[in-house]
Amino acid sequence: MTTQNLPGQPQLAYRGDTLFLEQIRLSDLAKAHGTPLFVYSKASMLAALAAYQRGFSGRDVEICYAMKANPALGVIEVFVQAGCGFDIVSGGDLDRVLAAGGRADKVIFSGVGKTRAEMRQALNAGIACFNVESEAELEVLNEVALSMGLRAPMSLRVNPNVDPQTHPYISTGLKSSKFGVAHERVVPTYQRAAALPGIKVVGIDCHIGSQITQEEPYLDTVDRMLDLVEEVERCAIPIHHIDFGGGLGIDYNGDTPPDAAQLWKKLLHKLDARGFGARRLMVEPGRSLVGNAGVCLSEVLYLKPGDQKNFCIIDAAMNDLPRPAMYQAYHQIVALDARPVSSAATWEVVGPVCESGDWIGHDRTLDVKPGELLAVLSAGAYCMSMASNYNSRGRAAEVLVDGDQSHLIRRRETIADQMRQEALTRPGHGR
Ligand SMILES: *Cc1c(COP(=O)(O)O)cnc(C)c1O
Repeated sequence: MTTQNLPGQPQLAYRGDTLFLEQIRLSDLAKAHGTPLFVYSKASMLAALAAYQRGFSGRDVEICYAMKANPALGVIEVFVQAGCGFDIVSGGDLDRVLAAGGRADKVIFSGVGKTRAEMRQALNAGIACFNVESEAELEVLNEVALSMGLRAPMSLRVNPNVDPQTHPYISTGLKSSKFGVAHERVVPTYQRAAALPGIKVVGIDCHIGSQITQEEPYLDTVDRMLDLVEEVERCAIPIHHIDFGGGLGIDYNGDTPPDAAQLWKKLLHKLDARGFGARRLMVEPGRSLVGNAGVCLSEVLYLKPGDQKNFCIIDAAMNDLPRPAMYQAYHQIVALDARPVSSAATWEVVGPVCESGDWIGHDRTLDVKPGELLAVLSAGAYCMSMASNYNSRGRAAEVLVDGDQSHLIRRRETIADQMRQEALTRPGHGR
């Protein structure tokens, strides 16, 4: 039997005509758990993490998984066991890390709109650092920490004004972006922070965007960050750690992002050259750790050939896979069974949701029939984490594959799950 790997998908291969993830036949999982179904490879996640670990070997580094990419407890657990820290963006994210066995002191808290309640929760838990995103937030964090008799460990997210050359919705390091504090305000903000009794300055951070496929934006950012660290430290405010954020892209469709190991090696050369080689470092990768570790399995419901377009209607939709609708993103779509079924045609692959924006792939050449199972690739990041109940669709189930073992890490959401928090207005009819 021949084995044929799929490009950019290390754990995904046809054995004969059948698609496997690690040692598991994907059609078996679809039969056992139904579709749409997300399936993740633990080995892929650990291999992606290993590239970061190689790049930083011998350094004082914390690799903080940016869990908004995929916050499933079973995924977090993989990174807890691998010794990662976590980059969270809400109090709920923190609860997930703790529920998966993670340590609060390895958690850093990003996001432009942290509430007082979230600050209190994170201070109580004892997180490693708040990545503060504005001067206003700094003042509130100080107040909240003082009211608890604590000092909040703080890093300032700086906006390096670097163009990551990615989709505008996922560019975050430009001056026009809502994220971070502008260059010229960085030193005054650190001076203010150092004077606040409820704040303890511990670091500096940035995050310039997502799905970045070039190394220049990172390397430019390094120089700007180090310039700022020097300026701040000239004011006698020590910066204990430097956090370069996340954002490294993955191969969706022949994309060629830099390899994490190579990129971070180059970055470390720059740090060494400027005398920062021994500094504690952090990174916040999300997509690059999980994106290509996952697929979404879906069944073809109907074929609807037409004059202008042929529609292939599948049971996964924009509520499961929001990236095409949100970012015009490309996901490869392949059949689980590679045997020819009729003859290939060009299809608009769409979901059942009542929106014209509900498409998964344009102009795809596929050889399909109703009942056929498909895999939407590169679905490990920003798919399930952005899933919704639009059209009263329950969110999909999730399976983690580990060698020849598979674990259901999230059961399919039922309509009872969806309606549980709701109530009717008529007396006696509430739930
Ligand atoms: C989303 C996000 C990340 C992770 O981005 P990826 O592109 O998934 O690597 C890291 N840091 C912050 C602050 C983020 O908002």
